[in-house]
Amino acid sequence: MRPTAADAMLPLTELTEDERLLQQSVREFANAQVRPLVRQMDEHAKFPKDLIDRLFDLGVMGIEIPDTCGGGGGRFFHAVLAVEELSRVDPSVGVLVDVQNTLVINALMRWASPDLKARLLPTLATRSVGAYALSEAASGSDAFALQTRARQDADGFVLQGRKLWITNANEADIFIVFATVNPEAGYKGITAFLVERGLAGFTVGKKEDKLGIRASSTCELILEDCRVPAAHVIGEIGKGYKVAIETLNEGRIGIGAQMLGLAEGALDHAIRYTKERKQFGKAIAEFQGVQFELARIATEVEAARLLVYNAARLRDLGRPFLTEAAMCKIFASEVAERSASLAVNLFGGNGFVKEYPVEKLYRDAKIGQIYEGTSNLQLQTIAKQLLR
Ligand SMILES: Cc1cc2nc3c(=O)[nH]c(=O)nc-3n(C[C@H](O)[C@H](O)[C@H](O)COP(=O)(O)OP(=O)(O)OC[C@H]3O[C@@H](n4cnc5c(N)ncnc54)[C@H](O)[C@@H]3O)c2cc1C
Repeated sequence: MRPTAADAMLPLTELTEDERLLQQSVREFANAQVRPLVRQMDEHAKFPKDLIDRLFDLGVMGIEIPDTCGGGGGRFFHAVLAVEELSRVDPSVGVLVDVQNTLVINALMRWASPDLKARLLPTLATRSVGAYALSEAASGSDAFALQTRARQDADGFVLQGRKLWITNANEADIFIVFATVNPEAGYKGITAFLVERGLAGFTVGKKEDKLGIRASSTCELILEDCRVPAAHVIGEIGKGYKVAIETLNEGRIGIGAQMLGLAEGALDHAIRYTKERKQFGKAIAEFQGVQFELARIATEVEAARLLVYNAARLRDLGRPFLTEAAMCKIFASEVAERSASLAVNLFGGNGFVKEYPVEKLYRDAKIGQIYEGTSNLQLQTIAKQLLR
């Protein structure tokens, strides 16, 4: 369902009925079902399996998948709202849902063949987690320098190489893997493939032990003579760069939403704590020095929300959004870091210990400036548009 002209007249932060209902249900879910698990998931660096099942039941694992395929039949903006609300409570859960919707499902809906879509979309909406594998040890920001090879033969392709830093890899059954069919052709050799868990020659390798978003799995993928049928090419041979560029341009709005949610979550904690904590005979929220800090960060959070919502609404309206997406990611990730840092300060000594929730958000915030294009790469995108 696309927004109507009347919807487009609404202030950016005013939600339509269906948007409000989704926001409400995800907020209730996050508070009731995710919040009690946050500390345990951070310590064990793992999602309980039944939390993932409950995310499927909630309907947030296939938001844009048509309802005829078991999905939510929603828009990109709905995915952004779900990621924001989950990240307000736990940004690890936010990124699981973000990668599923804004990268994997988005790429398959736009580029996969009708046969692949018919087979994969119903399972992604109801039971299968997806992962998106572009980065390698020697190609991060310079993603198209990837070295994973796809050799074509009579039966299809044979994949050989290693992927690094792949979110959701531990939980995923469906992987979009980028490899080159011709290293001499540069980015024009890059091709996207569907690789499924259990395929001979494909293994999920070492899981990273991380600073933040620890419950979210980040693993190496190993492809050793991994045979993939020609029908598993996503999009065209040699056009994988287009799949990657276009999905990542959209995906970074999702990371903006993750960081926005984190910033809001930290501010929620700071407001609650400063109203309760007493020093010098009164709540610390009564000191103007504290009030001004809260007011300043609330202003920044609102600005981040406007950037994220605007980029998402532009995308849903089919308008250009490249600059706005880069701006929303860089700004929201910086605000997330500042908001979490302020919350740690305002919790005093309690901000520094794991018994309280804000040190985790401070650790989680850092990733927003790194994945799906570092902040320097976002600045490069913005500058390129400015100086065209
Ligand atoms: C937790 C986590 C999850 C991830 N999930 C995924 C995933 O699911 N799928 C996936 O494919 N990848 C994933 N990544 C990889 C991520 O996208 C890369 O780490 C990121 O793009 C940066 O690449 P790099 O680590 O190689 O850093 P580098 O590219 O080596 O960058 C190092 C530094 O150099 C700077 N730099 C590089 N080039 C330039 C330039 N031209 N101008 C100015 N500065 C520059 C960068 O800004 C950065 O500060 C994940 C990473 C992490 C840490």
